[in-house]
Amino acid sequence: MIQPPRRLFIGLIPERPIQLQIQRHCREWAWPTDARPERFGRYHITLHFLGDVGLGPEHLLRRALRKVAVEPLELELCVPEVWRNNVAVLRPANHDGLQALYDRIALVLPATGLQPSQPQFKPHVTLARNAGQATPPAATKPIRWRVNEFVLVWSVLFPQAKPARYEIVERFGATPGQALSPPATNGQQGEQLPLL
Ligand code: ATP
Ligand code: MG
Repeated sequence: MIQPPRRLFIGLIPERPIQLQIQRHCREWAWPTDARPERFGRYHITLHFLGDVGLGPEHLLRRALRKVAVEPLELELCVPEVWRNNVAVLRPANHDGLQALYDRIALVLPATGLQPSQPQFKPHVTLARNAGQATPPAATKPIRWRVNEFVLVWSVLFPQAKPARYEIVERFGATPGQALSPPATNGQQGEQLPLL
């Protein structure tokens, strides 16, 4: 049977201990009653959203992604924000290594014929939607997240999946023995983004 196109994105998905810390951080916010929280286990940072990708381009993509160098990164999730599109997010402090990983992946995409739809990279973990009236905590204890890989994810939406789920298609890991790049330095406070 021919595999129908799959809705794919490239991102970072933390393991359970960091998922738990993000969930704990969410409890520090004041949420409007109709906010829609992200489900535990789905917290992630999207690097490149690709949309529907056919089997041929997916194979090309996976081959290309295997060649992308991955250095371990230590991210610090520490900047809670509410965006104009009513999404509540937790952002990492600026990290050159994260931007560099995004850029390295962007470089291999044109050869696969795929066009990511996120020209400006504003790394964030979505905490909740419909959260325009949410109030972030006055102080945020940074969450240290050591990243050793990026992942290609198949987003299976409702009603194809009930509930919607993210399925990891392939993991692209750090080269063993590589040094950890230094922790993130400064965060940006209160920045508003255009709608995604
Ligand atoms: P739902 O759309 O049902 O609320 P979701 O947003 O988690 O679920 P997707 O729409 O498949 O699932 O999105 C997967 C990831 O890609 C999310 O991080 C989402 O914010 C991001 N994303 C989705 N569409 C775009 C887009 N057009 N441009 C940039 N990022 C996108
Ligand atoms: Mg979506």
